[in-house]
Amino acid sequence: MSGIHFAFLIGGEEINPETAEDPVQVDIMEQIMNNITVRMEGLVCPEHQQAPRFLCSGDSFDDLSIEVHGCCEQLVELTRQRMESL
Ligand SMILES: [Zn+2]
Repeated sequence: MSGIHFAFLIGGEEINPETAEDPVQVDIMEQIMNNITVRMEGLVCPEHQQAPRFLCSGDSFDDLSIEVHGCCEQLVELTRQRMESL
């Protein structure tokens, strides 16, 4: 278990990847989650042992931006470094 949390907010509506019915949407969400999970492997906050959280939001699935949240600025910074390193 990675402990990484993902949320998807499309057009102001929260979409749960576990219960979404559109296979195209599910596919996009799974790709995003897999990509990020691989990049963040083993990453937890050195101070609080928390994994980062990701908020993927936009007007549609073609136009998503990803926000990083964490227990503190240090974890957010470590997470951003990994996001940029690939
Ligand atoms: Zn922390």
